Amino acid sequence: MSTMALRLDSKIQFLKGVGPKLGELFERHGLATIQDLLYFFPRAYEDRRAVRQISNLKPDEIVSLKAQIVNIRSYNLGRTHKKIYEVLLRDSSGQILCKYFRVPYKGYFDRFKPFDTVRVVGKVQDYRGRLEFHHPDLKDLDTEEDEIQKDTLNPVYVEIEGLSSQKISKLIHTAWEQIKDEAWSEPLPKSILEKNNLLTKKESLYHLHFPEPAESESLLKVQSPAQRRIIFEEFFWLELYLAAKKMGFQNEKSSALKPQLTRSKDLIQSLPFTLTSAQQRTLKEIQHDLSLEHPMHRLVQGDVGSGKTMVAFLAAVWAIDSQSQACLMAPTEILAEQHFKNAQKFLAPLGLECALLTGKTKASERKIILEKLIDNKIHFLIGTHALIEDWVQFQHLGLVIVDEQHRFGVEQRGELKNKGANGLTPHFLVMTATPIPRTLAMTVYGDLDVSIINELPPGRSPIQTRVTYESKRNQALEFMIEQVKKGRQAYIIYPLVEESEKIDLKNAVSEFEFLKQQFQNIKFGLLHGRMKADEKEQVMSSFRNKEFDVLVSTTVIEVGVDVPNANIIIIEHAERFGLSQLHQLRGRVGRGEHKSFCILIMGYAVSEEGRQRLEFMETTTDGFKLAEFDLEIRGPGEFLGTRQSGLSGFQIANIVRDAEILHQARETAFEVLNTDPQLKKAEHENLRAQLTQKHGATFLASIG
Ligand code: ADP
Ligand code: MG
Repeated sequence: MSTMALRLDSKIQFLKGVGPKLGELFERHGLATIQDLLYFFPRAYEDRRAVRQISNLKPDEIVSLKAQIVNIRSYNLGRTHKKIYEVLLRDSSGQILCKYFRVPYKGYFDRFKPFDTVRVVGKVQDYRGRLEFHHPDLKDLDTEEDEIQKDTLNPVYVEIEGLSSQKISKLIHTAWEQIKDEAWSEPLPKSILEKNNLLTKKESLYHLHFPEPAESESLLKVQSPAQRRIIFEEFFWLELYLAAKKMGFQNEKSSALKPQLTRSKDLIQSLPFTLTSAQQRTLKEIQHDLSLEHPMHRLVQGDVGSGKTMVAFLAAVWAIDSQSQACLMAPTEILAEQHFKNAQKFLAPLGLECALLTGKTKASERKIILEKLIDNKIHFLIGTHALIEDWVQFQHLGLVIVDEQHRFGVEQRGELKNKGANGLTPHFLVMTATPIPRTLAMTVYGDLDVSIINELPPGRSPIQTRVTYESKRNQALEFMIEQVKKGRQAYIIYPLVEESEKIDLKNAVSEFEFLKQQFQNIKFGLLHGRMKADEKEQVMSSFRNKEFDVLVSTTVIEVGVDVPNANIIIIEHAERFGLSQLHQLRGRVGRGEHKSFCILIMGYAVSEEGRQRLEFMETTTDGFKLAEFDLEIRGPGEFLGTRQSGLSGFQIANIVRDAEILHQARETAFEVLNTDPQLKKAEHENLRAQLTQKHGATFLASIG
């Protein structure tokens, strides 16, 4: 084997110690070539310099320690045949549980028995306030040699179907030895490397996989030159794409929307309130964009209830007054219906025709809507993603509004784009209630301009929030019942955690049954993610029609549901939520005239830090402040998650922690495209290849 010269693009199976079977396993996980293997970065580093003890572990750190097995047990989860394994470990300082939701490989647990000394390597998890390991690596020190050496960091790789981090590390080492003398093609142009003071890709990979003692501190802080280089590149591809898109917009043509009528002014005057100054500013920015001959792409961010919808309606009327049509797309039928009712209320009196189109719209009705649309007899069409369908054709679509954008992919925006007439692109307005700090938003939604409504309409009495322990649950329920007896309605929310979805579901269902028993004169409803869409709609609309008093639900109600009569929300196991998510949930109340309450119930075992975090909810109702707090503590995944396409593909980069590198990558991307929009220079050949490979051959053609 060793005589065969391997190259970067050789299959992994030819690597010494691999073979066809393992090779296939790697391939199933997206690693086909030696290069892929080398691009498989450590997910973290384990610090071997300090001796660790169970009693001083902290959540989220990756550690390695010696311990003794106390016992091993397995049990079935509920009625499913899913088996969970638990290994309890102890050292002289304390005990910790290792949980496995699947067996790493057949016979894995047969190797261990009580009193065995093991080395455990894994990430410390805070599970309902208790520290545990989930799927750690266990190594039996009675039969295997402990390879731990002091003074270095040990790269930790994500396990691949029973291939331990240590094995992967060894293979990466073998691979490196084989190809280290090969010349690598460098993905980034030399000018970019020099200007930003970056290592080559090859140098960085070496340092990531084989850390040197002197780098330990900077590696642990994710600030080493190698990490910086990789992070830069990860951001750079995204920003180059966004920059190219944004520059492309400027070459698209739209109708300049300049109203001939004054109905948007009339509407403002007829409102029972005055617009807040943040609403006015945002509206001005939108109107300015709309009056230009290339399309607006603007994101409006604002807390729940900050009046985004009203601003969107005013923008729609402005477009309609300029002889065009507008549409609004919402992520769910419930929300689409809500928007439609509101639109009717405010726009019908001005003589504007609104219509609702969803998957539920009857064929006969749909036919009428489509005829009227093409005749410009419907001015404002509201609906779900049904709007995207090909057969929905407008006479002159000038403005597209998308609500809660993170629920839709960027792609769907693209599909609505084709609905403009005469080769003209409609203007785009995107609304989201997910608060992201401004600088971050501009970079993350790099192709959009951003307006922020950072002010709530006056006279709202803030929602009163209380954090309490499980032991006070009964008092919380009594308080809720009092409100219900006054004619109000309430929500009780249960969290869902992926791993144990069924257990949690059972919680909501059994709690629902229990409550029905306990409070027989109160009517309860139940909502959860396992229900079909129309069942959910049915429950929501009965709740809105006050057919029952208390809605027991999992987090499926999170998105903008509006039941003004509901004034109290109780959230169980609040410690399991991010603050932004709690804030979104809390926003379900405080939508009507009644004083509103939010009660956060935490599990007994919540950590000190967890409790403080929740108590922050008592002190502010400012979504941006909460988001920033979340960002610091829990990172951006919390509110961007994997929903935001393009942001999930990072291996190392983190948009919050690495904000500075993000800005740098963004600037560089714009500079490159400004000087060479078509990426025709020889040194940009690779950039061009990357963009066209990922986004299609015609992608760059749209940039002038
Ligand atoms: P969002 O879409 O940002 O959640 P909405 O536009 O639905 O907020 O506004 C929430 C409620 O506040 C609606 O009932 C709306 O009519 C009302 N509203 C909007 N703007 C104002 C304002 N400037 N003053 C008072 N009430 C307002
Ligand atoms: Mg809304």
